[in-house]
Amino acid sequence: MQADGEFDLIARYFKRPSPDRMLGVGDDCALMSLSTGCELAVSTDMLVEGRHFLPDADPAALGHKALAVNLSDLAAMGARPLACTLALSLPAVDHAWLAAFSEGFHALSRESHCPLVGGDTTRGMSGIVLSVTVLGEVRRSHALRRDAARVGDDVWISGTLGGADLALRLVLGQLPPDPERLRATRPLLDRPTPRLKLGRYLAGVAHAAIDVSDGLLQDLGHVLQASHCGAELWMDALPAHPALAGLDESLRRDALLAGGDAYELCFTARPLRREQIQALGRQLNVPVARVGTLVRGQGVRVLDGDGQAVPLVRRGFDHFSEPCGGIA
Ligand code: ADP
Ligand code: MG
Repeated sequence: MQADGEFDLIARYFKRPSPDRMLGVGDDCALMSLSTGCELAVSTDMLVEGRHFLPDADPAALGHKALAVNLSDLAAMGARPLACTLALSLPAVDHAWLAAFSEGFHALSRESHCPLVGGDTTRGMSGIVLSVTVLGEVRRSHALRRDAARVGDDVWISGTLGGADLALRLVLGQLPPDPERLRATRPLLDRPTPRLKLGRYLAGVAHAAIDVSDGLLQDLGHVLQASHCGAELWMDALPAHPALAGLDESLRRDALLAGGDAYELCFTARPLRREQIQALGRQLNVPVARVGTLVRGQGVRVLDGDGQAVPLVRRGFDHFSEPCGGIA
């Protein structure tokens, strides 16, 4: 991008005072220190126009979501946010869009104590592309790794599932219009809340964790594969978003097991941690539900109230085999 535009844009929309003991936007690199005994946790997620969001997506919500999905990865590792960077490719300069986008981004950045300390801004060919990188810290050997689950662990889910998936289907017109259900679920899709506190408190308590971004079966499947075990889930124990009540049973099941964009934590822990985890949920005011157990073998079996296997249809979202997913 030309110098007169690029540096003005950065100064106007992205540069903010950097916190003490940190060097932020304006030098060749940002600088920060890790707390003693901590490891650095790093994660990047991209959002591509037409794939992750539609061209008319609300820019403030998009700014929020671009950071939120990355913070959710830190949460799922048990890490505390340190800072973030933002790479932005724009086909044209739209000041109204940039103002709203950056405000949405900075608001969550402030709220989650994750300052924007650098990035890159360029003119792209067609469509907006955003890439956010988050940096966090976690006490050495306390990270909630996907390969750390053990046979006999309980499987837990935070919050509720299926709400954002329902909103997405309503927005895409895959379901008949339902203004009431859309009103109840749309904020989950547009402005997800990363479970940062829960993740941090679970570090050292739980074994493994993952955030449910592509659907419970698919995401839990990653943990099982990395940890070489299988899982039994209890359909009736899955925490459904209230807006799913009264929906067709197969639709409900699909939203719970395969619905994406939930950004809840699915984690595993020893049974002797049950009371501690329940108390943690009460303390943080985050519902936590025990939904299954890890077993020898591989894959997930979902059981209904009678102990019968539930037939599974869709596993989850795969960016290389499906059309436009979230709209942010
Ligand atoms: P360089 O030439 O060293 O890559 P740039 O000219 O690309 O530096 O960027 C100047 C400064 O602005 C750097 O500190 C960079 O990290 C920061 N920056 C660029 N784009 C963004 C952005 N979208 N958000 C935050 N910081 C940015
Ligand atoms: Mg650069």
